[in-house]
Amino acid sequence: MSLPAVKNYINGEWVESKSTTIGDVWCAATGEKIAQVPYSTKEDVDEAVKAAKEAYWEWRTTPPLSRARYLFRLKEAFEDNFEDIARTLTTEQGKVIDESRGEVRRMIENVEHATGVTTLMTGYTLEDIAQNIDCYGHRQPLGVFGAIVPYNFPGMVPWWFLPYAVVCGNTFIVKTSRQVPMTQTRIFEVIDEIGFPEGVINMVHGSRDVVNAMLDHPDIEGISFVGSTPTAQYIYKRCGETGKRVQALGGAKNILAVMPDADLESAMPSIITSFFGCTGQRCLSGSVLVPVGDVAEELKEKFVEAAKAMKVGNGLDEQTAMGPVVNAAHRERVLNYIEAGIKDGADLILDGRDFKVEEYPNGFFVGPTIFDNVTPDMTIAREEIFGPVVGIVRTKNLDEVIDLINSRDFANAACIYTQNGGTAREFKYRVLPSMVGINIGIAAPMSFFPFGGAGNSMFGDIKAHGQEIIHFFTDTKVVIERWF
Ligand code: NAD
Repeated sequence: MSLPAVKNYINGEWVESKSTTIGDVWCAATGEKIAQVPYSTKEDVDEAVKAAKEAYWEWRTTPPLSRARYLFRLKEAFEDNFEDIARTLTTEQGKVIDESRGEVRRMIENVEHATGVTTLMTGYTLEDIAQNIDCYGHRQPLGVFGAIVPYNFPGMVPWWFLPYAVVCGNTFIVKTSRQVPMTQTRIFEVIDEIGFPEGVINMVHGSRDVVNAMLDHPDIEGISFVGSTPTAQYIYKRCGETGKRVQALGGAKNILAVMPDADLESAMPSIITSFFGCTGQRCLSGSVLVPVGDVAEELKEKFVEAAKAMKVGNGLDEQTAMGPVVNAAHRERVLNYIEAGIKDGADLILDGRDFKVEEYPNGFFVGPTIFDNVTPDMTIAREEIFGPVVGIVRTKNLDEVIDLINSRDFANAACIYTQNGGTAREFKYRVLPSMVGINIGIAAPMSFFPFGGAGNSMFGDIKAHGQEIIHFFTDTKVVIERWF
C-alpha cells in the first residue's frame, strides 16, 4: 500500500509537487512509515513566490485591523483543532503529548501577540525638526518573506515569524522540515478553512533544493531561519550575497549551574525537564550540568535517581515522561556521541544505549544517559548532541562556571540555581548567552519578548518574535515635510 504524500499549499490550493524525489516520514515511537514527503523543486518555489507576489499589493493595502481579524479567526480555529494538531506533532516528532500541547499553545500565543499590530506597527513623528518642517517615519511592509524551519518544533517555529510578517502586510512562504511535514500540513488545513486571501500564506515541503531556490529568488525580500549552526551560517552568508534580510538562529550547548545554596528539592523537576524534556532535542535544553563546590555528590545522586524514575515510551501515552528521538538516523548520531564520551574517558553513570520499550521494539528510543567527570575539552562538553545525554562538569566557584559558559562556541542559553540574589545577578550580568534562567531550567521567552541567542547561536541582529520582529518585516520610510 502506498502512503499518502503531503502536498504543498500554494495560492490557496493543495498542489502536488513536481518532484520525483520523495522521502519518508516516520512515527518516532513505533518506527513505522506514516507518510511521504516530496522534495519540492525550484519550479514549485517559483509558483509559490509568484502567488505570494501577486497577492501582496491587495493584502498590503488592506487595513492592519482587517488583517488582524484574520488572525483572530485563526486563533479560534486553532483552539478548535488544538488536540488534533498536538497529536499529529507527537506522532511524527516523538515528544510527549503534554510537550506538544505546550508547543501548540506557544504557537497560538504568537498569533495572539501579532493581533496587536495597531500598536506594534506604529511609526513616530516629530514636529519642527527645523522651522516649519515636520518629520515622520511609517513602517511599511516589503513584499514576500519566507521561513526555513527545523524538525524539533515543527508546529511552533514557523509561527515565531509568520503572524508578524503577515499582519504587517507581507505575504509568506513556509518551508517545512522534511522529517516532520505533517504537523504544519495539519495547521495549513486550518488556515485553508479560514479562507485567507489566496497567495497570502503558502507552504512548500522539501530539502536543500527548495531552500536554495528560496535563497536565490529575487522576489523574496527576507528569510527567517531556525536550525543547526552550520546551516544557519550558510543561510546567513547566501542571503548576504543575494541581498536579502536575514535572521538565522542556530544551535546550542547550554550549561546549567547549581550553586551549593540551591534548593535542590524544589529545583529537581525543572532540572530534569531541562535535560530530558523533548528528549533533549530543544535549543534551550540543558546539556552540561555544572555543580559548584560541595553540592556535587548530592546533586548527582538526586539527578540520577530522578532520571531513572522517568517513564520512557510512546509520547501519546499520558504517563510517558520522555519520548523517542525523531528518527533512526538521529538515534545513531546520539549513540555516536555516547561512544565519544566513553572514548574520551568520562564516567558513564547512567547508560541509555540499549534502552528498550517493550511495546515499541522498533521505536527510536535512547534512554536517559549521564556522564560524570566530564572535562570542558571533551567532545560531549563542546558539541551539540541534541539528545538525552548529559555531561557533569564539576567546578569550584562561580567564576569558573562563568568562564566555562563563555568559552563555549555557542551562546544560546544558560541557567543557574541559587538562593542568593547577588550570585544570580553576577551570573546574569556576565554570561554571554542571551537567554538566561534563574531557578528556571528552560529560559524560553514568550511571544512578546525576543527569542534568540548570541555568538554562534544567532546570525543577524533581529531575533524571533517580541516587539523587535516588526522591524524585520517592515521598512521605516521617513518623510520630511514642509508646506509653503
Ligand atoms: P538543520 O540545520 O539540519 O535543518 C534546518 C532547516 O534547514 C531544514 O528545513 C532543512 O531542510 C534545511 N537544511 C538543512 N541542511 C541544509 C543545507 N545544507 N542547505 C540548505 N538547507 C538545509 O536543523 P534540524 O536538525 O532540523 O534542527 C535541529 C537544530 O536546530 C539544532 O541545532 C537546534 O539547536 C536548532 N534549533 C535552534 C533554535 C533556536 O532558537 N536557536 C530553535 C530550534 C532548533
